[in-house]
Amino acid sequence: MELQLFDTYSRSVRKFEPQHPPAVGLYTCGPTVYDYAHIGNLRTYIFEDFLRRVLDWNHFQVTHVMNITDVGHLVSDADEGEDKMEKGSARTGKSAWEIAEFYTKAFQNDMDRLNILLPTIWCRATDHIQDQIEAILCIESKGFTYQTSDGIYFDTSKQPDYGYLGRLDVEGLRAGMRIDMGEKRNPTDFALWKFSPTDKQRQMEWDSPWGKGFPGWHIECSAMSAKYLGAYFDIHCGGEDHITVHHTNEIAQTEACHDTRLANFWMHGYFLQLGDEKMAKSGGGFIRLETLIERGYDPLVYRFFCLNALYRVKLNFTWEAIDAAATSLERLRKAVNEWQPASSSEVDPGFIGQFEIAINDDLNMPRAVAVTWDLVRSNLDPGIKKSTIAMFDQVLGLKLMEWEPLVEEVSDEVLRLMEQRTQARKEKRWTDADAIRGQITALGYDVEDTPLGPKIKTRK
Ligand code: AMP
Ligand code: ZN
Repeated sequence: MELQLFDTYSRSVRKFEPQHPPAVGLYTCGPTVYDYAHIGNLRTYIFEDFLRRVLDWNHFQVTHVMNITDVGHLVSDADEGEDKMEKGSARTGKSAWEIAEFYTKAFQNDMDRLNILLPTIWCRATDHIQDQIEAILCIESKGFTYQTSDGIYFDTSKQPDYGYLGRLDVEGLRAGMRIDMGEKRNPTDFALWKFSPTDKQRQMEWDSPWGKGFPGWHIECSAMSAKYLGAYFDIHCGGEDHITVHHTNEIAQTEACHDTRLANFWMHGYFLQLGDEKMAKSGGGFIRLETLIERGYDPLVYRFFCLNALYRVKLNFTWEAIDAAATSLERLRKAVNEWQPASSSEVDPGFIGQFEIAINDDLNMPRAVAVTWDLVRSNLDPGIKKSTIAMFDQVLGLKLMEWEPLVEEVSDEVLRLMEQRTQARKEKRWTDADAIRGQITALGYDVEDTPLGPKIKTRK
């Protein structure tokens, strides 16, 4: 089955065809590095990782670009309030630059722990100020900008299809928001360049043709995606909150400058919720991956939890659901671990076909997991099961082939016998060592000597 993906722009599932097969250009909006990522943010990156792996499965050659927002994202997501980076600096007493460095590393560490593939290209907004200035100059030369006392703004009324991605009722917004617009001409207008305040010194600011200041949040993604993937490329992703503002404005900018609508497919991951509320960095219920690890969960349990829901539905976080995911993943790991590898790498084409139908149906990962369980329960030869599941795991990313049970908890008596056996082996008293092994076996355990030392397992 060919790959079908839901495109938010057309609100339909369409066959995915890249512009220049087998090459695929993929841009995913990265983190704003003023604080740790919460597991809601991470759900979006996990969804994007499934997409990336499904593209790989289909033999596309993906160039994946992810930005790091380290300037310009204001507290309100619109153009009001403090820059999140400067706010983070005030909160921690570190410089905005130090904070960016610190939280970028923390984010990359989370990605690693969740087995999320690294992008082909990372790009920091602050490393691309000149590219953003040039993008603004381009938009200005096409007549879409105006200046206010605090910056250069994009005039959204000049674009007849502004807001199409979010199906925005631009007229309704205009009617409802006559007040509180400041010097903006339309409620949906947004900043391309903001001037530094006159009453205080910003830590991050640059010279520009319009005066000292910093770029708006949306321009970084238009400028950097065009630089690395071209003005029009295959797939652009982010969380659902980006549909109405951030991605709508990215499209407006790129359309104004390059006369294209930026990406062929727009894909959005839906939110992780706590109760009825979305998980947000500014909200109270902020759970980090670290929180899960501190409570004793393997980080891949969270990946497995996300796998069991469609990316286009909101997902409720509960500790009970995480417990259920942990139990289920443990069962899967144990099953795979017990199968002996086949002498050949023969796979089962029927199961591979079912798995592919699921993942190519707009990333139906819950169905792919169900196919995986069907494989586990099937009567196939364990070696074939093992090679087949190894292929599935290229997409699931659960490191199923690497997992090994930890040394089991055993009684003091067994521990004492293990120590005695190790001592006997050190002293080359092989008969004694074998006799002690016999005693351990009689108590219901198997001993296996590995390069890392003896391992003990319950007898099967
Ligand atoms: P930020 O670091 O705030 O720029 O957000 C990083 C990514 O996480 C963006 O793609 C957001 O759309 C996404 N995001 C924010 N909150 C959530 C949530 N509760 N669940 C899923 N994704 C989210
Ligand atoms: Zn973006």
